[in-house]
Amino acid sequence: METSAGCLRDTSVVVVTLDSGEVYIIASLSTRADTQVIYIDPTTGALRYSAKHGYDVFKTQNEALDYITNGSKWLCKSVTHARAILGYAALGSYAVLLVATRLIASIPNLPGGGCVYTVTESQWIKVSLQNPQPQSKTENKNIQELTDLDIDGKHYFCETRDITRPFPSRTPLRIPDDEFVWNKWFSTPFRNIGLPQHCVTLLQGYAECRNFGSVGKQEGLVALTARRSRLHPGTRYLARGLNSCYSTGNEVECEQLVWVPKKGGQSVPFNTYIWRRGTIPIWWGAELKLTAAEAEIYVSDRDPYKGSAEYYQRLTERYDARNLDVAVSGSQKKSALVPIVCVNLLRNAEGKSESILVQHFEESLNYIRSIGKLPYTRIHLINYDWHASVKLKGEQQTIEGLWYLLKAPTVSIGISEGDYLSSRERINNCKGEIICNDDYVGAFCLRSHQNGVVRFNCADSLDRTNAASFFGALQVFMEQCRRLSISLDSDLAYGYQSPANYTGYIAPLPPGWEKRSDAVTKKTYFIDHNTRTTTWDHPCPDKPWKRFDMTFEEFKRSTILSPVSILADLFLTAGDIHATLYTGSKAMHSQILSIFNEEAGKFKQFSAAQNMKITLQRRYKNAVVDSSRQKQLEIFLGLRLFKHFPSAMIHPLHVPSRPSGCFLKPVPSMFSSSDGGASLLSFKRKDLIWVSAQAADVVELFIYLGEPCHVCQLLLTIAHGADDTTFPSAVDVRTGRCLDGLKLVLEGASIPQCANGTNILIPLTGPVSAEDMAITGAGARAQETSSPSMLYDFEELEGELDFLTRVVALTFYPAVAGRGPMTLGEVEILGVSLPWRSIFSHEDSGVKFYECINSRRKDTNNFRSGSGSNPFSTAMTNDKGMPSCQLESSANSFIDFLTGEVRLSDSSSQLVAETVVHEGNDLLDFLDDTFTPPVSDSNKDSSISFSEGSSDSGSQQYIRSFKVLAGPHWQERRLDFMEAMKLEIERLRLNLSAAERDRALLSIGIDPASINPNMLLEDSYMGRLYWVASTLALLGQISVEDKITASIGHEIADENYVDFWNISAIGERCQGGACQVRVETGPTAGSSFSMASDSTFVCFDCGRRVCKVCSAGKGALLLATSNLKEVSGYNGITGQGGSDASSNRLATIDGIICKECCHEVVLDALILDYVRVLISLRRRTRTDDAAEKALNNLIGLSSKNLILERDHFLNNKGNAKVLAKLTNGEDSLAEFPVASFLHPVETAPGSAPLLSLVSPLKYGSQDSYWRAPANVSSVEFAIVLGDLSDVSGVVLLVSPCGYSMSDAPTVQIWASNTINKEERSCTGKWDVRSMITSSSELCGPEKSFKDKVPRHIKFAFRNPVRCRIIWITLRIQRLGSNSVNIDRDFNLLSLDENPFAELNRRASFGGQIDSDPCIHAKRVLVAGRSVRTEIGASPQGSDQINVRNWLERAPQLNRFKVPVEAERLIDNSLVLEQFLSPVSPQLAGFRLDGFSTIKPRVNHSPSRDVIGDPTSCLLEDRLISPALLHIQVCALQESHNMVTVAEYRLPEVKPGTPMYFDFPRQINTRRVTFRLLGDIAAFSDDPSEQDDSELRAHPWAAGLSLANKIKLYYYADPYELGKWASLSAV
Ligand SMILES: [Zn+2]
Ligand SMILES: [Zn+2]
Repeated sequence: METSAGCLRDTSVVVVTLDSGEVYIIASLSTRADTQVIYIDPTTGALRYSAKHGYDVFKTQNEALDYITNGSKWLCKSVTHARAILGYAALGSYAVLLVATRLIASIPNLPGGGCVYTVTESQWIKVSLQNPQPQSKTENKNIQELTDLDIDGKHYFCETRDITRPFPSRTPLRIPDDEFVWNKWFSTPFRNIGLPQHCVTLLQGYAECRNFGSVGKQEGLVALTARRSRLHPGTRYLARGLNSCYSTGNEVECEQLVWVPKKGGQSVPFNTYIWRRGTIPIWWGAELKLTAAEAEIYVSDRDPYKGSAEYYQRLTERYDARNLDVAVSGSQKKSALVPIVCVNLLRNAEGKSESILVQHFEESLNYIRSIGKLPYTRIHLINYDWHASVKLKGEQQTIEGLWYLLKAPTVSIGISEGDYLSSRERINNCKGEIICNDDYVGAFCLRSHQNGVVRFNCADSLDRTNAASFFGALQVFMEQCRRLSISLDSDLAYGYQSPANYTGYIAPLPPGWEKRSDAVTKKTYFIDHNTRTTTWDHPCPDKPWKRFDMTFEEFKRSTILSPVSILADLFLTAGDIHATLYTGSKAMHSQILSIFNEEAGKFKQFSAAQNMKITLQRRYKNAVVDSSRQKQLEIFLGLRLFKHFPSAMIHPLHVPSRPSGCFLKPVPSMFSSSDGGASLLSFKRKDLIWVSAQAADVVELFIYLGEPCHVCQLLLTIAHGADDTTFPSAVDVRTGRCLDGLKLVLEGASIPQCANGTNILIPLTGPVSAEDMAITGAGARAQETSSPSMLYDFEELEGELDFLTRVVALTFYPAVAGRGPMTLGEVEILGVSLPWRSIFSHEDSGVKFYECINSRRKDTNNFRSGSGSNPFSTAMTNDKGMPSCQLESSANSFIDFLTGEVRLSDSSSQLVAETVVHEGNDLLDFLDDTFTPPVSDSNKDSSISFSEGSSDSGSQQYIRSFKVLAGPHWQERRLDFMEAMKLEIERLRLNLSAAERDRALLSIGIDPASINPNMLLEDSYMGRLYWVASTLALLGQISVEDKITASIGHEIADENYVDFWNISAIGERCQGGACQVRVETGPTAGSSFSMASDSTFVCFDCGRRVCKVCSAGKGALLLATSNLKEVSGYNGITGQGGSDASSNRLATIDGIICKECCHEVVLDALILDYVRVLISLRRRTRTDDAAEKALNNLIGLSSKNLILERDHFLNNKGNAKVLAKLTNGEDSLAEFPVASFLHPVETAPGSAPLLSLVSPLKYGSQDSYWRAPANVSSVEFAIVLGDLSDVSGVVLLVSPCGYSMSDAPTVQIWASNTINKEERSCTGKWDVRSMITSSSELCGPEKSFKDKVPRHIKFAFRNPVRCRIIWITLRIQRLGSNSVNIDRDFNLLSLDENPFAELNRRASFGGQIDSDPCIHAKRVLVAGRSVRTEIGASPQGSDQINVRNWLERAPQLNRFKVPVEAERLIDNSLVLEQFLSPVSPQLAGFRLDGFSTIKPRVNHSPSRDVIGDPTSCLLEDRLISPALLHIQVCALQESHNMVTVAEYRLPEVKPGTPMYFDFPRQINTRRVTFRLLGDIAAFSDDPSEQDDSELRAHPWAAGLSLANKIKLYYYADPYELGKWASLSAV
């Protein structure tokens, strides 16, 4: 389908928005022949694409359009036509899609093909998503600001080849250099659905190409490309100098490509020159003073050159051609070094503000030389005060001076030269480096390479830089032309030489010389009038780089100027674009670029005014919009998303309940036209009001999910709910892999009465075991109602995670039992599915998935084989954290998500920050050596039992640790906060759940609540701790994000990492020695501790030597050096100029801070953060376990390494063909993940799992197959198909062992639309034994299945049957069990001549059961066509009227507000107490308005393994253990006791949504209290409304306050109350 090189057509993208609000992206790429349809899920914004023909793959765009709109255009609300997709993101309430609507082919045809398009018009399409997940106003504002980002004219892309690297790129299109990809993050959703090419690789900057020629005709083409680096994005005043990603502000790589176009088939000669521009690579900035004319320049006083070396290192790696150089003409000698020549154009005169930068620039290079980090780089600095020179000597001499300085470096760096060979057959003739890949037909032959780079800078890298780089590049351009035999010498213009007979370049003549041509031979000769001699030879033969030696006037006189002005033109535009990107206005002082232009003088006058105007413009932009532009860029690049979109999901959830989800049992309705309830699952009927059958006491929905997933949320749309009791008031949720054995997930969750159309979201966990529930569950919570868990969820209940969940059963209960039918609206199930499609095709995320699983297995195996000691005992010491195999593995190898490369990383590359390690010792070694837990001896003993899955040893170890901590009097002594936290670390290290911990503690008579750290601190201190920990978490996130960005373009990893938390182990103490701090002293728990080394560090603050135990983690220094106020603004109040620059800054500061200099609250915050990280890792490990389990259930725990089968898989491109043969060209309808089994089927031990029967054709091990246990003589497979389908037959793939007479089954097949067996119809019965008699091929082991259709049996139906479920029964006849049949069957054959007699031994092939035949099969395929189901056909007219009538008849509720005499808020407004008058009516319930809080994603610093790929997690923490709120209502009763009336689990709704909760019964009371319970700490305020006072007494969100949120009501008849009643409606 995909073609290499050449395009078939122009890319066309159509974005269709239907009336229902659904959005489809229809893309027909230039590189493909077909059309893809991508659906944006209207609830979550997840992109959906299934690669199914006729469903989302079509032959043409029109066919796709017809399908989506059902052939009727009027279904469309809007249609946008575009030329390319630039990006997409779902950000909570909105999704944004960016498309390019108009393009210019700015470089239409690069040598070797490929068109560079500049986006001249783009469009943001904002899709409003219909989910109730609360999102802050600030987030919505940020989305709006993102869509204001200026794209047009400043971005470009190429669809067919990589242009992020110097031309010609050695790397294919799909692996761009991330330094220059601006939509890397923004294009992720397309990569995740397996369509990486559907979103182009977008570069920022300038790309343009022009023809030029010497004699008025085209001779050459020049293309100027400027790629802006994204490593230090941002605007002037906010992004200058270095950042912590080792990049400078306004950093641009420029490329000047010159080539001679040729007609088809000929080689295309070309050459290129690259240079860099950017601000000075040291830490500096400029502060804008409102009064001063110029900004004040400052250089960081601490480590101003930190990262400078890394900056040059990155340049060195990119422009290092030492090993590539192919000496061709001998003109370039192989160089040993990579020169980097910095041309610094700053003012350097005494008193000029810029001169401080010049000094530091020089100093920084001295520093780099002194540390000797860059042995192969030679950095030259050329200071050239451009402004002073222009003022003093004028423009012309300034240019001459520049040429003088540039000559030597330019010549030695050289240019790259080569040819594009249109056919690879010519490669043999190439002397040089050959570059070829799939992106073009031919190959490049590079004869010479540029080695090193010239780098220009002024203060902002704008105006002076642009001018100087033009005059530098102009010289190179002249040389580039000369080498391509394009003469730009002006004397040629007057000659009569035809281009055909000149052989290369002819230099201008010295004064007194004349050129003539021989009248007869036409050969040129030269006359020297000075000496009166003639010669055939040119007096000064062609000299490379000769114009460097000319004066300005000489240059001008000897050169054809039209190409020069063409080049100047390109530079002028490029300069404007860079200036606009950086400052928001055009370039100034650019008239000098027109100096060769005759009319330059006129231009000059005009430009003075122009400059003035631009200066003012820039000032305005800087002061007003820079900060918001900075934010736009960050969002566009996907940076600091935890700050800009704290509540948004990393990956939006899937909605597997549609479109191919269905009800397994029809839902009875009151009205006949209802479609069995199917429309309840359809988004197209969002406004649906569905009425249950009259008699129903409960309504049960059995939902079959379109794909298996872990179910996370239930989303209900209230239909007709606010004012009557017809909407259900509670729901139970059960889930499972099939219809049998559904597990209860949620019981009696209350559904408030809400207005029609309200979306309410009910978060779900996996099913929690009853045992755990009893020990840590609701009961435990009730006891500590007075103090919510502020720090972390000490009692976390862990539900089972299952990615194969297929059936969700919902039971709805009416508000008032037995009163009548219920109404329902749309029901959506939200979940997370594994990337099945890429798992099967081994694409991007699939490969990652396998690597993860494989390395987990490897580690598990090592562990089981007993090699090495208990990995857990070492796990903590180096902060590998959890004893998770996954963690270990990710340390060994992970895919670098930035480059797509698999990297081996050393296991110490765990966190973030670098440190200066004194005494030459690695801090980590030290950590490794010192921590030996006091229980280490027993660890070894118990490791075996642990590995066998017993948790006892873990519990025992835990108890031992507890006793060590609490000391000899452990029964009486209470732990303090720090001890309790260390015990929790131990618990997590031992991989115990909260319930397991509680069981262990209870077993020795300790109340778990007594070690709950949440209850061991003062309330006021807790608030402060919470706040510091949140800040720490953000700093950690920032520094890790920068670390990831910094790694782009860097081969080297940082050598030293310091631990972020540095939590000392239980009993670990300072050993004195060289340590001058000695803060952690006291009795050591055992003599086993010894200082492995005397390594000490120097405290950043007090300067004393400090040992590791007495040092605080790296995080403490981050906190100490950050401006806390600025960081606290993370939730939105950025924009105060430079805030981000400073947060960037802090990550780079080296050092250690001792515990004495560190505030206590910081130390507590560090340990809290560490516990949170461990909890998160535990969740992650559980997720990975669940993922592995799911995979095992599909293909079995194959002993083979999965990766081994990858090649096999990749080689199977004929798969589709084979499949088509098996299904006679029809669709395969019963393939996992769309299809699955309705019921479990008994499976023999050691057999391939049941699901392998429906896994994709060639997936899994070749010789494995499914078997029933030997004693089973009949099995029934109930297969649910992906869609309602017309099935034409079933294909059974024969197991590799083949059939024999004893195990060949009889097959009977039924079909139906529902699970009701009575309704199914039999489609036929077949006897396989009779088949094998006629075809011996089916018998015995399969000989070779390569390249051919595997052995199979087809069971074709007489006519296609429309159905959703297929039942297949396999039955074998057992000897003795049915002798009659056996006799009859065997009579068919002569036993003597039985050709299969010896095949009875076939079972031995399977190796499991020797004598007993069993039912077995390899695969089951169902062939047919899926039917497009038209859900949403509006009900018949009569029914519509009936529904309406019925709804109007429904009992109306009239709520009236109960007046409150007094009320007070207690416990930080989490409790509301209301006092009522004695004459108050009976209370019926209360109204609660949705809280205006969000649930931020980040509450701890990143764990180490997230560094590889922060987006790689399958399940976010928030989804595994969702934060829940409950409201508890108590009322004063007769006995003068407060009695709990009810407790309600609150669903998520949009802020301010009124929810009415009825009490279970009406109550009479004078005092009611409402208490908010649950995971209060997981919520935070809308940043824009956040109170930024640092020491707010209570850390929890003000938005959770119950003030003015609750109103009590009663029901009454309005007529009885009179007209005033309406005034007190609730
Ligand atoms: Zn110490
Ligand atoms: Zn100190």
